[in-house]
Amino acid sequence: MHEWALAESILSAAQETAEKEHLKTINEITILLGELQQIEHDIFEFALKELAKTEGKKLKHVKFHIKQEKSMLQCTRCEHTWSFDEMKKTLGIDEAEAIHFIPEIAFVHARCPKCSSPDFDIIKGRGVSISSIKGS
Ligand SMILES: [Zn+2]
Repeated sequence: MHEWALAESILSAAQETAEKEHLKTINEITILLGELQQIEHDIFEFALKELAKTEGKKLKHVKFHIKQEKSMLQCTRCEHTWSFDEMKKTLGIDEAEAIHFIPEIAFVHARCPKCSSPDFDIIKGRGVSISSIKGS
């Protein structure tokens, strides 16, 4: 499952950072979850907690904070950037709902608000990343 694979890569990245910074234990990991990342928040958190139990001593008492990262889009033609929130306002409720589940739909319906180009990239808020690690 997608959530478990992501949780595993977050934990191994956290452990690598802990090694580099000579931390004996990791107390807190703050994770940024992109608005357009298609994962189940609950399953992801469960996977993190379950995997932390088996990933060794460093992660025994770790706490996870999961924050949502807002998505940003950028036009490939005029380089204008805008947020996914702004984009949702221009769409109907049904379309905005569909995009939440299938972000690719955004590419079909949306246009750059400045030059009306249909070509744009998601430059922020699509992936999962670690924003901070606290340990001792
Ligand atoms: Zn544009």
